[in-house]
Amino acid sequence: MEKEHLSRLIRLKEGIHRIGIPVPFPVKYVYCYLMENESGYTLVDTGLNYKKAKAAWEEVFEELAIKPDDIHTIIITHFHPDHSGLAGWMQEKTNANVWMSDTDRKMFQLAFMKNDIQAIDVNKLLSNHGVNEELRKAILNNLENITERVQPYATVNSITKKNWNLDGRAWRILETPGHSQGHLCFYQEDENILLAGDMILDKITPNISLWPGGSDRPLEDYLNSLKDLKQLSISRAWPGHGGIIDEVNKRIDELIEHHENRLNKIADLATQKSGSEIAGELFAEKELNAHQWRFAISETLAHLEYLVDQEKINRIASNPILYTK
Ligand SMILES: [Zn+2]
Repeated sequence: MEKEHLSRLIRLKEGIHRIGIPVPFPVKYVYCYLMENESGYTLVDTGLNYKKAKAAWEEVFEELAIKPDDIHTIIITHFHPDHSGLAGWMQEKTNANVWMSDTDRKMFQLAFMKNDIQAIDVNKLLSNHGVNEELRKAILNNLENITERVQPYATVNSITKKNWNLDGRAWRILETPGHSQGHLCFYQEDENILLAGDMILDKITPNISLWPGGSDRPLEDYLNSLKDLKQLSISRAWPGHGGIIDEVNKRIDELIEHHENRLNKIADLATQKSGSEIAGELFAEKELNAHQWRFAISETLAHLEYLVDQEKINRIASNPILYTK
């Protein structure tokens, strides 16, 4: 079952395929979903502009005997490059309309089209939290490299409707901020299936980051989104990475517990230290590259700011900013 769940191309049911597209990151694949309705196909998420990803799509079109212009719609669950990066290439190929939440459409522009402005804010955030110049430069370099992987740019429309016909049936659009501020999930109520994006993943925990241009309270947003999903009694989730999730509420509880444990650990480490120092201690055992340090630091900051909001710790307005009990 596990193996089948991780296959590169599987038919989930009549008119729905799950497609693993390679990404040059440790998660190895982003899972995209091809849904067929009366007028053709809708593609949910696309992958990153990466040679192996484009080759994988060509193979999938051939294997399923789909002509690219049968795809009339491309929906992006959230703006992160592994989901949005090939949208422009795919749009050129298919002439499909591309859709994203308005919040993430704007965040995409800030992160990848106005990246000079974004770089100033990122440098400032990292510097304020005690990240040394060498690592700041490496992180900014890495961000600049990612920008190349989301081109050509797609023309993106903002999603405003509440339901979407993906496979001949209505899927309810759920706003699930946290992993990104404009993250969307799609929920099929008759079968209790969730097209989850990166909201819930099996085995790995979605990254929750404090980042310029995003929410001031990403962890609070994410925990609230998890609680909202729990109310729906979802029986199966189709995520953007890793295997299909059958025990959804159990996984939601595990994710909540993971963040509670991490909050406790981070609160213990907050003894007149900067965010950078605390991240360094938290991830001391791991060998991280600049890309992973960016996640480690921004995720630590999301937890620290949550603890400040909860009045568990204090933020001292010094240079760098310090956190303490
Ligand atoms: Zn992802």
